[in-house]
Amino acid sequence: MDIQTRAVHVLGDPVPGDSRPLSVPIVQSSAFAFESADALADAMAGPDGPYVYSRRGNPTVRALERTLADLEGGAAAIAFASGMGAISGVLLALLRPGDHVVAQRCLYGGTYAVLSDLAGRYGVEVEYVRGDDVAEFERLVRPTTRVLHLETIANPTGRVPDLPGLLAAARRHGVVSVVDNSLASPVLCRPVEHGADVVVHSTTKYLAGHSDVLGGVAVFADGELRDRVWPRTVELGACADPFAAWLTLRGLPSLPLRMRQHCAGARLLAGRLAEHERVAAVHWPWLPAHPTYDLARKVLSGGGGMVSFELAGGRAAGRAFIERVRLARLALSLGGVETLVAHPASTSHRELGEEALAAAGIGAGTVRMSVGIEHPDDLWRDIEQALGHP
Ligand SMILES: *Cc1c(COP(=O)(O)O)cnc(C)c1O
Repeated sequence: MDIQTRAVHVLGDPVPGDSRPLSVPIVQSSAFAFESADALADAMAGPDGPYVYSRRGNPTVRALERTLADLEGGAAAIAFASGMGAISGVLLALLRPGDHVVAQRCLYGGTYAVLSDLAGRYGVEVEYVRGDDVAEFERLVRPTTRVLHLETIANPTGRVPDLPGLLAAARRHGVVSVVDNSLASPVLCRPVEHGADVVVHSTTKYLAGHSDVLGGVAVFADGELRDRVWPRTVELGACADPFAAWLTLRGLPSLPLRMRQHCAGARLLAGRLAEHERVAAVHWPWLPAHPTYDLARKVLSGGGGMVSFELAGGRAAGRAFIERVRLARLALSLGGVETLVAHPASTSHRELGEEALAAAGIGAGTVRMSVGIEHPDDLWRDIEQALGHP
């Protein structure tokens, strides 16, 4: 079935009875009672057994895990308290001192910080690639390379890596590939179909979609890898809360419709921004002038909702713009129904020094806009007035 249909049908546990709730119940319980000592002991075996304790598994959380595994085309999933919980949980579970990681150069700031910590404090070696050149990865890969970490759409440059090429190369070398699909969502791209081993999300963004809940998920192409990662994530304890899982499930049925509108609004605004005299450059994956346009057309089924642009006036102009918008709000998130603007160089990417910023292609005057589902003409009027000030 199409994802537009599957997104509407949550894969929860069957609820007994002749009249059943349409919505998944929120099972707000930390622990589960048993009749027999043996049954409780047996339930400790693994991630798919009976519920014991909600850090190990919970019916509402499992409904989210099953539904997201289905939408991403994976075998199993683990839900987390946040996207960073998912990313930290997966990397800590996969890596040991002496292991080598290859990651895309333009990364979410928090992920960059985790990788820097793993390198500085835990003896993991990390090297960065541009992401559009399989040969560059082939030159760096070594016997100790354990993880290739990519983002479907890099934030805020909109660069799309050569997912099919890099994921196939990772597989050839026995390297576990992890793809952060937060900015594309499974509506625009399902990395497992291109060969990804693990897909991570900040469900805080498009999946939940309403800026009212934090969450993360790791979807595994292979259930066996999930089983190996799961005990480490239970130790980490960054588990999803049942109510947070329910709010995320609450957002999913409208995900395909929302993504369609995010993409349509972003397309219109990106096109108009590209023609504005005060805008030096626009980054949106489906603009023909974008450096990874061909890859984006191949890998994505829409251009996404994030548009970044460089103002001709540099840092001062960028920071002034985000204060002048009225309909768009100045807030540090993305993927919600409302349009948000931010200045990456001083916020989400401040962990990157000046050199890393330049290498990642982020200018001092770059403005990131997460285009919401408002009418694009209203958004354009707001952008024009914010650009129009002297
Ligand atoms: C927001 C974000 C994260 C972190 O997710 P949280 O839910 O804030 O912890 C990771 N990756 C990407 C691409 C993001 O946009």
